[in-house]
Amino acid sequence: MIADIEVREAGKKGLGVFALRGFARGEFIFRRRNGPAIRYEDLERVPAEQREHLTELDREHCAIVEPPGAYLNHSCEPNAMRSGVKVFAWRPIAAGDEVTIDYRLNAFGGDSWPCLCGAPSCTGTVVGSFFALDMAKQQAYLPYAPAFIRKEWRARLPHATLL
Ligand SMILES: [Zn+2]
Repeated sequence: MIADIEVREAGKKGLGVFALRGFARGEFIFRRRNGPAIRYEDLERVPAEQREHLTELDREHCAIVEPPGAYLNHSCEPNAMRSGVKVFAWRPIAAGDEVTIDYRLNAFGGDSWPCLCGAPSCTGTVVGSFFALDMAKQQAYLPYAPAFIRKEWRARLPHATLL
């Protein structure tokens, strides 16, 4: 039980995580818990409903996200950010707001999925790759991205050492 959030219906998105109090920008919200690392090729042995709540750990491994973190929905303009398993407010969050993160932070496959987030910048389709984000977002998110994304970002952009 995490005192400051609750899981409840989030309309068409299914369940979502909601703030029970306000959070200031940068404030810690809760710690997400992941199951053990699973190699992608072993995923077929994982029950389908658990496969709906995966997080990419690196190019070889993912993990099943446990509740309540499993119910954090994606937004193209999220109000929260994740750094490893720590979820913190990216923007001020009011009590009652749904807490959302950007799934592209640690995504690399480029698979697309329909998006219901409703953000002004949302095209209705998310391309699941950090590198599909616009450059301003890549730079803003980079410090919180997992090591394998940061490494690939630097490799793709030799001038990044100047930033
Ligand atoms: Zn969206």
